[in-house]
Amino acid sequence: MPVLVRIGPVIAACCADIARHADRLNRLDGAIGDGDHGTNMQRGCEALLAESQRLEALPLAQSLAEAGRILVMTIGGAAGPLYGTLLMELGRAMSETSGTDDFPTAFAHAVNAVARRGKSGTGDKTLLDVLFPLSDLLAADNKFETTPAKVAALAEMTVAMRARRGRASFLGERSIGHMDPGAASCALLVAAVCREINGGRRA
Ligand code: ADP
Ligand code: MG
Repeated sequence: MPVLVRIGPVIAACCADIARHADRLNRLDGAIGDGDHGTNMQRGCEALLAESQRLEALPLAQSLAEAGRILVMTIGGAAGPLYGTLLMELGRAMSETSGTDDFPTAFAHAVNAVARRGKSGTGDKTLLDVLFPLSDLLAADNKFETTPAKVAALAEMTVAMRARRGRASFLGERSIGHMDPGAASCALLVAAVCREINGGRRA
């Protein structure tokens, strides 16, 4: 499954969607964390937008790795190193293979690196509850058109989970009944990327 994508418009789409949903992400994080996830993500996306032209001039794998480094430095919190690891490892894996041809394998490698970084797996009520199933969808040659609805459903499934990682885990049983903010931002970002790959059409 070759992925032909210009990173500039993808960054712009992600940044716009995170800005639109920043208050909601802060409210979700306010319910089971410290209320800053939307603000954190917005800061990271704005930093990427500021570097967009430079990133677009790089080969895709290199620009993803560089975008990851920018996110680590700017998002902060728990999510910064996790989203940063995802892009840095994705870029590294893509540059080690033939570029974009084996994207599902590169993506699976990156998701596993995020899991190692967070010492977390599926069912812990984190962004990995979107990333792991997404990795499986990509491996099954899922169509990008249907991915946004699928990742939205995956984020929704975190509502019923009890958090075992991150700040929300301090709440124990009381974390049940709220969507994980990281899963919500992840679903939003994946939908924005898919929309750009589909030529800017909303699903
Ligand atoms: P912080 O919790 O430091 O304020 P954010 O609010 O920006 O950071 O991000 C919180 C999100 O990060 C959570 O909703 C969860 O999805 C994700 N997260 C936190 N800790 C972990 C972890 N150990 N493994 C995977 N994801 C995690
Ligand atoms: Mg937070």
